Amino acid sequence: MDLSDSPEEMEFRLKARKWLEANRPAGIADRGFALPIDEDSIRILRDWQRRLYDAGYLGISWPTEYGGQGKTVIESAIFNEEMARVRAPAPLNELGLSMGGPTILEHGTEEQKRRFVKKILTCEEIWCQGFSEPGSGSDLAALNTRATLDGDEFVVNGQKVWTSLGHIADWCMLLVRTDPTAPKHRGISYLLVDMHSPGITVQPLKQMTGEAEFNQMFFEDVRVPRENLLGPLNGGWGVALTTLMNERATLSLATVMRFRNTFEDLAELARRMLDEGSCDLSRAQVRQTLAQFYIDVESMKYLAYRNFSRLKRGGTPGPEGSISKILWSELNQRMNEFALVLQGPRALLTAGANGVVANGRWQYGLLRSRGNTIEEGTSEIQRGIIAERLLGLPKAY
Ligand SMILES: Cc1cc2nc3c(=O)[nH]c(=O)nc-3n(C[C@H](O)[C@H](O)[C@H](O)COP(=O)(O)OP(=O)(O)OC[C@H]3O[C@@H](n4cnc5c(N)ncnc54)[C@H](O)[C@@H]3O)c2cc1C
Repeated sequence: MDLSDSPEEMEFRLKARKWLEANRPAGIADRGFALPIDEDSIRILRDWQRRLYDAGYLGISWPTEYGGQGKTVIESAIFNEEMARVRAPAPLNELGLSMGGPTILEHGTEEQKRRFVKKILTCEEIWCQGFSEPGSGSDLAALNTRATLDGDEFVVNGQKVWTSLGHIADWCMLLVRTDPTAPKHRGISYLLVDMHSPGITVQPLKQMTGEAEFNQMFFEDVRVPRENLLGPLNGGWGVALTTLMNERATLSLATVMRFRNTFEDLAELARRMLDEGSCDLSRAQVRQTLAQFYIDVESMKYLAYRNFSRLKRGGTPGPEGSISKILWSELNQRMNEFALVLQGPRALLTAGANGVVANGRWQYGLLRSRGNTIEEGTSEIQRGIIAERLLGLPKAY
């Protein structure tokens, strides 16, 4: 496979880079894998998404009739890579762009595509993902939120949990049980639910960082028009798999670039901490650890290329995304942990404290990174997928 840009792709890359350098929002850092929580960030990222859209840099590979740019997945990947290179923050409607849009484009009716896709791109409507429940996270198909048909409407009752951005979302990708008598994977439907409907209560949940990126949501007799059913009645599991595959795979190339940035910051931190005599490690030990991180980032790059070449051939993201998911989530934890080892006793200081290193960026990073091996499916679940679906091993039980 030829991994270099064609002359046209290089031209697109350089133009995008120039635009990003001139336009990336000032005063807001790339928060890595964390979502925005305060009002200022939300406002800035909403505006940022609008400017990306107006400049023709969102929905790059989505069809023009639904608001996309009708270009290729290669240009889309190039742009995402350039976004990460200049450390530009992700647009606000991250879940709509990475999951909601692709799922509606694949399974939606013509009306649904026309109704929803463009507003995902323009950030007029923010999306959240209502999959997990208190009793069904890894075993998602065990979900209990019920929807019963009443004329032309579904009536939804139940509870969802860990819903990222639920507090600012306008729409929700909601999995519900529509046939409790069928085997668990066959009685599920996928609804597109207006979050402003009567009967929905959203309550924030605090993470160990002290921030509340996610929520629990209660549904009491929420009425959803039948036309908002995505895919077949009781066939929602197949639709949900599209969402999950996109969740685990689409970020890969940009993710590699983000990790390169983190690696450079870590190497810089190591030099500084060694010079200041902050840690007990020898230069050789630090060098060895950094070399291993470098190797990990490089191997992630080649995996990303493999996923990408599959997309390029017209395929959809597959179970290979699970390998990348394990790699990046566990690497992020190890890098943040090592950053604290380098800081010696100062690792105990947090943002704002006298003498704190990089204003607590790595301390925050370590706490936030614990969620990486849980969100989008835990590492144990990813290993199960790799074993069964990629290696063809028998089911665990
Ligand atoms: C930061 C963050 C954001 C999130 N955002 C969203 C969101 O927007 N929308 C949404 O719907 N969900 C979201 N989630 C929820 C996430 O998808 C679930 O937390 C995850 O799927 C795990 O489910 P659980 O928490 O119920 O844990 P459980 O499924 O109860 O798992 C508990 C432990 O048992 C292990 N385990 C379970 N089953 C198996 C098995 N078969 N084999 C081996 N080990 C197993 C797990 O790996 C885990 O260690 C988010 C989670 C986090 C941390």
